[in-house]
Amino acid sequence: MGKVLFWVIVIIAGLLIARILARQHEKGRIQEQQPKQAARKGAPPIAHPESMVRCAHCGIHMPRSEAVFIAGKTWCTNEHAKLGERL
Ligand SMILES: [Zn+2]
Repeated sequence: MGKVLFWVIVIIAGLLIARILARQHEKGRIQEQQPKQAARKGAPPIAHPESMVRCAHCGIHMPRSEAVFIAGKTWCTNEHAKLGERL
């Protein structure tokens, strides 16, 4: 009888510990998620627009990735870079 009671107590204690651990794990996950969500609110959108640059010759604006960089200035084409700064 004493052995059966011992095992019943061991099983109940094991279940209680498992439940407490599961609850702590869940709490930890919620606390991990909350700061990330708060950080996202203040952060700029992921797909932010590309910065625009101006051609030193004709003054046209274009995305930085499409511009030509020569002699420390931005140009819309190689032809305008050869013509030089006008504006
Ligand atoms: Zn140009």
